[in-house]
Amino acid sequence: MRYTELGGTGLRVSALGLGAMRLPHEDGDPSAIRREEAAEMVEEALRLGVNYIDTAYPYHGGKSESFLGEVLEGRTREDLVLTTKMPSWKVESSDDFDRFLDEQLQRLRTGYVDLYLLHALNERHWKKLSGLGVLEWAERKIADGVMGGLGFSFHDSLDVFMRILGAWDRWAQALLMYNYMDREYQAGARGVREAHGRGVGVAVMEPLRGGLLAGDLPPEVKQPLDRADLGRGHVDLALQWLWSQPEVSVVLSGMGSLQQIRENCASAARSRPGLLSGETKALVERAGDILRERSVTGCTGCRYCMPCPEGVAIPEVLEALDTAAIFEDEEAARRQYGFLGEEKDARACVGCEACEEACPQSVEIIEMLKRAGSALG
Ligand code: SF4
Ligand code: SF4
Repeated sequence: MRYTELGGTGLRVSALGLGAMRLPHEDGDPSAIRREEAAEMVEEALRLGVNYIDTAYPYHGGKSESFLGEVLEGRTREDLVLTTKMPSWKVESSDDFDRFLDEQLQRLRTGYVDLYLLHALNERHWKKLSGLGVLEWAERKIADGVMGGLGFSFHDSLDVFMRILGAWDRWAQALLMYNYMDREYQAGARGVREAHGRGVGVAVMEPLRGGLLAGDLPPEVKQPLDRADLGRGHVDLALQWLWSQPEVSVVLSGMGSLQQIRENCASAARSRPGLLSGETKALVERAGDILRERSVTGCTGCRYCMPCPEGVAIPEVLEALDTAAIFEDEEAARRQYGFLGEEKDARACVGCEACEEACPQSVEIIEMLKRAGSALG
């Protein structure tokens, strides 16, 4: 395993982190984790040198943290970086900060977490949490030794990202969605560079876009990837594209099997900043561009259209529609769309046009919502 410094935290983290959100579970019930199988995976990841473990309050219907608590209990924490996340959307008052953290520590059977992240920050959640004094609260918890540092995972525009980054000089980590296809999506490559430049550790989520980049890609996408191949396949290439960037400290993958763990650990072990030549990098990015060009919506995920007054999760609905077109994977698209539910999917749209006026890409949002509703609903 290769290890890196996580920004200015002083933590030494494995290049590959274990995301505990796609553990094996009973069909149709993510909260029914198949414990023996999942425990074996955690053990194998640790044995192969993974020392960064990522979980969150809602993963596996709230069971991910307690599962990890069971598996990690009694183990030395000296080299382990255990992280979990505050459910930002559930917080209603400043009392909730302690209430959630205490419950999470209890689930994890520990007295401290190495990093605590504000989960899924966007403009709205950030305004609420900062207004309730989350930074002052975190400073007290860090001083008390209950958390090693505070970070955040992020889903909003680059502008919002820059504002959050600039609001505090003690951020330990930013967890960003980033992969060779989504280079300009949300905070994107610029966000990665800005965070790193300020000494904030950069962790990457969705390196394979929820597994879609690991699936059967369209032939015109395979072509540049096959030319770029380092001899270990498309998944390795997608991961090496990230690790090749010196700004990226840890790549989180929600691995669902022992085989994935072994393969990804082998990839991490041979990774290093600058591994990809300029030519290889350009081929991988060309594949990403082709994927993006297959978008039917033209949405870049900038989120300037949000919030919708009726609660429609516009970028997520459009993303589901694009998943069907880009990856020709209707099942995955239906899953993405179905996850949103009646209150956030196309059915909640009243056609007020406020979003279309705000969209810099002139996406025909209302028309696209209708298409998503009839194709995926
Ligand atoms: S619909 Fe337009 S404004 Fe909304 S996220 Fe997509 S590109 Fe941005
Ligand atoms: S047109 Fe529909 S999606 Fe757009 S802001 Fe209005 S209600 Fe929301």
